[in-house]
Amino acid sequence: MKTFECGTLVPGCSWHTRADEEAEVVRRAVDHLRTTHGEEVIRQSTIEHIKERIREEKPQPLAR
Ligand SMILES: [Zn+2]
Repeated sequence: MKTFECGTLVPGCSWHTRADEEAEVVRRAVDHLRTTHGEEVIRQSTIEHIKERIREEKPQPLAR
């Protein structure tokens, strides 16, 4: 599972997402930047910044 927290890219934003595939996390993050932060043009460098901040999330055992 991959996870991305927007606050690592846009200070103060608490939005985050997770998905199985890095590509899906990037897609959702780009969608979020467009709709929430008004980024109409997503540059390649922005994509790279998102990828740099994606972290691998260990599966959590279900509570109880
Ligand atoms: Zn955000």
